[in-house]
Amino acid sequence: MNASLTPDQTKVEQVKLLIDGQWVESKTTEWRDVVNPATQQVLARVPFATSEEVDAAIAAGQRAFKTWRDTPIGARMRIMLKLQALIREHSKRIAVVLSAEQGKTIADAEGDIFRGLEVVEHACSIGSLQMGEFAENVAGGVDTYTLRQPIGVCAGITPFNFPAMIPLWMFPMAIVCGNTFVLKPSEQDPLSTMMLVELALEAGVPAGVLNVVHGGKQVVDALCTHTDIKAISFVGSTEVGTHVYNLAGQHGKRVQSMMGAKNHAVVLPDANRTQTLNALVGAGFGAAGQRCMATSVAVLVGKAREWLPELKALAANLKVNAGSEPGTDVGPLISKRAKERVLGLIESGIKEGATLELDGRDVSVPGYEQGNFVGPTLFSGVTTDMQIYTQEIFGPVLVVLEVDTLDEAIALVNRNPFGNGTGLFTQSGAAARKFQNEIDVGQVGINIPIPVPVPFFSFTGSRGSKLGDLGPYGKQVVQFYTQTKTVTSRWFDDDSVNDGVNTTISLR
Ligand code: NAD
Repeated sequence: MNASLTPDQTKVEQVKLLIDGQWVESKTTEWRDVVNPATQQVLARVPFATSEEVDAAIAAGQRAFKTWRDTPIGARMRIMLKLQALIREHSKRIAVVLSAEQGKTIADAEGDIFRGLEVVEHACSIGSLQMGEFAENVAGGVDTYTLRQPIGVCAGITPFNFPAMIPLWMFPMAIVCGNTFVLKPSEQDPLSTMMLVELALEAGVPAGVLNVVHGGKQVVDALCTHTDIKAISFVGSTEVGTHVYNLAGQHGKRVQSMMGAKNHAVVLPDANRTQTLNALVGAGFGAAGQRCMATSVAVLVGKAREWLPELKALAANLKVNAGSEPGTDVGPLISKRAKERVLGLIESGIKEGATLELDGRDVSVPGYEQGNFVGPTLFSGVTTDMQIYTQEIFGPVLVVLEVDTLDEAIALVNRNPFGNGTGLFTQSGAAARKFQNEIDVGQVGINIPIPVPVPFFSFTGSRGSKLGDLGPYGKQVVQFYTQTKTVTSRWFDDDSVNDGVNTTISLR
């Protein structure tokens, strides 16, 4: 396999581009190391593709679209059925590579793949998902119906934190709708993504239908501005996502941009204490806090304030270690740069007067002294003007705010510019109903810490966490990756009555 880890790590592999069904060695002079964040071992080198290579990938997509768009829906669907079987078969092997390049635990890496696999399973239902509508006799002998047609070459730009799930949000759904695709994986951990791409080829995705280019800003900008790209799916930080949305929008493309977050968990004192504390710790520190749906703010309401010592004790118990080690709860951050940023934000919290209840800065992991580890870190006494509240930290740092009432908690969450996810912990149905109705956040969990919807629904982050109307997967993405054509038709019998000339806009 091109992108797998080889047992002999003395020879550092070069990640290939995929253009028109061929694995291509880039001619670029710019490369970046893919590094194991627990050990700093260089796993591979990834190219920053040249503009000619990006153009070639798009041109391959454009050529392949001519036949792929008319490939019968059943044939497209059967490729997805094969792909889901292959991903299932190779899941454990991919998880090992994913954990090595990203840092998350093996179990969480398997979860990353599984949540993507569910989207591939969903893609197998495209026969009914892409159906149009039909209305008979909208006027005398006139029928109107809709066709959902593919739009052309689409592109996807993915972040480092879910190298399996997020590429699988994108290319299977785009392709199964009859489009062709250019994928630009995260340059920080492209190896597991490439293993999935290899499986897509093995499943029968034809040459040119799926292409892959690697790189950073230049490649992304080239995709956002190229005339032949019709739609861009982006997932990543707010800064880059806003840039991509604006640039691609200015160039007439459909764009969906899923961005950063600050997810609040609101805890009422009537909640199930044990389950709630477990949920806060799991969602706050799991994947080292590097999930867009991680719980990063706990809002303790009324007497739930008293739960803070227990929260601290539970977080302090988590095991920080390499993701490959059994029993690990919290793995390393993706890069030294990410670690420096998180440490800087912790420092700012102390300076701005928050109480550092649990300090993960000096964690040392025997055998992995070079790893980018930060242990679980907990702040109380946090106010909404502090940087640890206003910024997405994207590390294992949970900040605790306290309010007196549910109304105050709702107002607090609604004032925060992000709208990705939130949760309410309570045993009161009335409180839960009030919360789901009044909260201005796209994904709400009731006693569920990470409410990422399954793929029959769509991912529905909102406000500052999303630009563009339609989200990934579910029915929304079928709308995103297709254009609706309405056909209004009438057929005449040879002996039909002469209606005469109609000079009005009305159908008769
Ligand atoms: P990132 O924005 O740094 O990178 C995302 C992609 O953009 C990568 O492919 C990268 O190569 C590219 N990129 C980086 N800098 C660029 C630039 N200046 N111009 C153009 N392209 C550029 O994000 P990341 O650090 O890889 O991922 C973490 C972020 O993603 C967090 O903010 C997280 O909340 C967010 N995220 C959001 C969701 C969601 O669904 N809302 C899901 C996962 C991650």
